[in-house]
Amino acid sequence: MPTRTHSSLLRSLRAQLPEMVSTLRRYVEQESPSGSAEAIASLVALIAADFAAVGGRVRQRQLRAHGSAQYGPALQIDFAGPRGSPRLLLLGHTDTVYPLGTLKSMPWRERGGRLYGPGAFDMKGGIVQALFALRATLERGPLPCAVTLLLVPDEEIGSPASRALTERLALKSSAVLVLEPAAGDEGACKTSRKGIARYTLRVRGVASHAGLDFERGASAIVEAAHQVAAISALSRPAKGLTLNPGIFSGGTRSNVVAEFAEIIVDVRFFTALQAARVDAAIRRLRPRDSRCRLEVLGGHERSPFERSKQTVRLYRMAAQAAGELGFQLAEAAVGGGSDGNLTAALGIPTLDGLGAVGDGAHAANEFVVAREMPRRSALLSELMTRLAAV
Ligand SMILES: [Zn+2]
Repeated sequence: MPTRTHSSLLRSLRAQLPEMVSTLRRYVEQESPSGSAEAIASLVALIAADFAAVGGRVRQRQLRAHGSAQYGPALQIDFAGPRGSPRLLLLGHTDTVYPLGTLKSMPWRERGGRLYGPGAFDMKGGIVQALFALRATLERGPLPCAVTLLLVPDEEIGSPASRALTERLALKSSAVLVLEPAAGDEGACKTSRKGIARYTLRVRGVASHAGLDFERGASAIVEAAHQVAAISALSRPAKGLTLNPGIFSGGTRSNVVAEFAEIIVDVRFFTALQAARVDAAIRRLRPRDSRCRLEVLGGHERSPFERSKQTVRLYRMAAQAAGELGFQLAEAAVGGGSDGNLTAALGIPTLDGLGAVGDGAHAANEFVVAREMPRRSALLSELMTRLAAV
């Protein structure tokens, strides 16, 4: 049963649901694909104004461009806590995987208690829940601990520009709560996530005329096909290790023996050991046709978020808080990586999947379950109090 303070917090957040929904709508209707600096800046301005109105100190941080790419600002919002209190980092991202103009085919929609739109679930819903959690907590008095919210503009493309900032702020924090979507219908939080590596395998063969000079050629495409088979054979799906040759390109014309081919492979793993073994195996690949040359580029991108003791402790704290709010909080292991992988790898207690409940991340039917929003907000508020006490 919810306790008295919990139920009053929940009641007040439930009364704010229409406002949560309209806030989410404003964020969703400002599209914000990764790499579209202007669009991200517009969304950041909206979010910054909302958090400033609650009393946060807003800082927009321009990230150093990575190559020629522009990312738009990262948004850092600090809330003071009692002197000497621990600092909690709330982590999320403003970017989505949807290109500008997606709203035309995938407009904001409310149907059957579900809120649809690009980025609603991953993860603008989580940002809204954090906003209302902070507001509800501050309405009851000073925050029990210092809180920093960091929203990065490049998470969906692997956080190339924001990684250093995330790591720097995590190292100043006693715990990290990640506002990424929850897992499954029951809204489980994520206590382990796979790590990610990405490899590009370039194959150079010998071009020749397919009709006149076939045997003088060494096909980069045929060689690459053998390599794809070898790479695929390294997958161990039952152990959570997968290698996906997701892009295969090469050749110029059908009557030319291909001089060049390229494979891009996405690798997911649960342990650092799996990653090291795959890395060694990929770098050991040799051409079957000795006239071909192989070149391996890329490698490790995100360390796995392994289910550490610290994370389990944080999860238990959250599950207990959820229980007092009247719901069960399960835990899940998932394949997709997030910036939580970065902070967990630094040894900072990290709990992921504290954002919206819904489904369809990165898909046309992406949605948030509206009635779950107030209690997820209440959970964040309650976690602040508990983390301040440890
Ligand atoms: Zn996300």
